Amino acid sequence: MLQLPELDQDFRDSGVGLLFHSAGKGAGMRMALGRHKISLYLPLALLVVLCACGPGMSAPRGSESQGGRLQVVSTVSPITDIVYNIAGDHIDLSGIVPEGVNSHTFEPAPSDAIKLAQADLIFINGLHLELPTLKLAEANLKEGAEIVLLGEQAVGPDDYIYDFSFPKEAGNPNPHLWTDPIYALKYAEIVRDILAAHDPDNGDDYRANYARFAARIQSLDAAIQATTASIPVENRKLFTYHDSFPYFALRYGYTVLGAVQPADFSAPSAQEVAALIEQLRAERVPAIFGSDVFPAPVLEQIGREAGIAYVDTLRDDDLPGMPGDPDHSYIGLMVENLKSMAGALGGDPTLMESVGK
Ligand SMILES: [Zn+2]
Repeated sequence: MLQLPELDQDFRDSGVGLLFHSAGKGAGMRMALGRHKISLYLPLALLVVLCACGPGMSAPRGSESQGGRLQVVSTVSPITDIVYNIAGDHIDLSGIVPEGVNSHTFEPAPSDAIKLAQADLIFINGLHLELPTLKLAEANLKEGAEIVLLGEQAVGPDDYIYDFSFPKEAGNPNPHLWTDPIYALKYAEIVRDILAAHDPDNGDDYRANYARFAARIQSLDAAIQATTASIPVENRKLFTYHDSFPYFALRYGYTVLGAVQPADFSAPSAQEVAALIEQLRAERVPAIFGSDVFPAPVLEQIGREAGIAYVDTLRDDDLPGMPGDPDHSYIGLMVENLKSMAGALGGDPTLMESVGK
């Protein structure tokens, strides 16, 4: 029997914090702005429709009716894109976290329960990013199906990064491994091996697709290194909307100064903003970064008052452009991020143009 999502849940990670930490400089500052509890209520009519929903209705059909194609579910868009790069059209793939939605607070819908119940393979980032989805997947897992936690398979606990948004005390490592392209490639390798094990007939294609993807990731990695080298060393600092880039920063030698995390409806106090402005000025940061998915009026305000450029085009899990556009991909996401960073931090964004998307 289909398990539906729970109706009333705390939004995980909905604690709103205004965060600033100076890597390697001792005491940081954290301003927590309180927690919100948000209740979800499913409309009764929707439940009735779902309960009446039998095979052959709008829900995706089982693998039998798809000529044996693997039914695969993934979560955030970069992972969906990585799976697509390896699988091509050999599988039926459904990414369930809509773009432009905060993946940390995403709650799967009843329609996602159907997809999860019919999936042969479920690729999840893991590292506690998509707990409600993982729980629902486990509750509905069909016989022979497999849930793959890419983060946990890609790295061991020694490589986990904890920071102000993801403090060690809370037990949730920073989950954004894929912002380091070498980890993204590791994800692709895991996907290749799992797909080949479940669908050996297409194993050669999965291996060939992986080889092509690996070449593009290597070109991306080289371009990021060259672009980073064009940014003055003292400017390689990131103060962002959300702590998404610690693995990226570690690989390429950026300092993560901190993040403002606004799922927030209460603005920080004038004193908090003033303190941040002072610290950002002391760091001589040329720019601070926001994102469409996490609108941050406070970042804009801090930028304005500190006389620091505010660039709101970084992204970590919604892909640039529209589906079908050449840059609507994981690699496109990284290229656009580096162009934004280089443009704002005094580097050469055109160095990213060598990357084939
Ligand atoms: Zn995130």
